[in-house]
Amino acid sequence: MLVVQQLSHSFLNGTESTRVLAGIDFRVERGEMVALLGSSGSGKSTLLNLMAGLMKPTEGSILIAGRPIEKMSENELAVFRRTHIGFIFQSYELIPHLTVRENVELPLVFQGVKGKVRRDQAVALLTRVGLAGKTELFPSQLSGGQQQRVSIARSLITEPAVVFADEPTGNLDTKTEAEIIDLLIELNQNLGITFVIVTHEHEVARRTKRIIQLRDGRLVDAEDETGEHADRREGVGSR
Ligand code: ADP
Ligand code: MG
Repeated sequence: MLVVQQLSHSFLNGTESTRVLAGIDFRVERGEMVALLGSSGSGKSTLLNLMAGLMKPTEGSILIAGRPIEKMSENELAVFRRTHIGFIFQSYELIPHLTVRENVELPLVFQGVKGKVRRDQAVALLTRVGLAGKTELFPSQLSGGQQQRVSIARSLITEPAVVFADEPTGNLDTKTEAEIIDLLIELNQNLGITFVIVTHEHEVARRTKRIIQLRDGRLVDAEDETGEHADRREGVGSR
């Protein structure tokens, strides 16, 4: 599903190059839900943006559904992203002058899907995420948690191979955060959606089966089925 091989990334600031990621290898299978942890500035967003094709890596390869995305042209990548990759942002990134339903339909507009089909799919997904009565409202008329639900529905509308989320609960209170995480877990379990979720909050990671952690530009992979990884994480795989 997702295979990352020898991925490295450096940012150039003037003449100085800073290496943020160094030789990262891992894979995510279809239907997995993975939490990507790490302290602020550890490179979580950089790694997520590389995997989602939003930037090109300095070195290494990213395969999604068997295709090396770093080799694609800008046009190829734009089309591939629209059909194979979903993305959920911390700040929702909804378009304010479109209704909730129109926001969710938008990725299908780019695919040339016809009005009625688009509309029905958007309404069905919005119902799935608990927003049945809100489809004709504008984003500003919703709470933060509801706006994130819209953004989750939008990320799923193209039936992507994998959905990346960058601190999706970072702007929400604790109760709403738990509700959004419940929803992501439910979508993973019942629809088999593959998620990679960046978080610096252990509360989120505690509830996912698999945690990968960034430290010093490298990944520490702590796989666990028992839900006890919070206690064991510190001892795992340091290099
Ligand atoms: P995280 O999401 O884990 O907080 P980031 O991936 O945003 O970390 O950033 C990792 C490091 O890369 C930080 O030191 C940050 O300052 C640097 N960085 C991120 N984006 C850029 C950029 N566009 N140009 C230069 N440095 C960057
Ligand atoms: Mg970040």
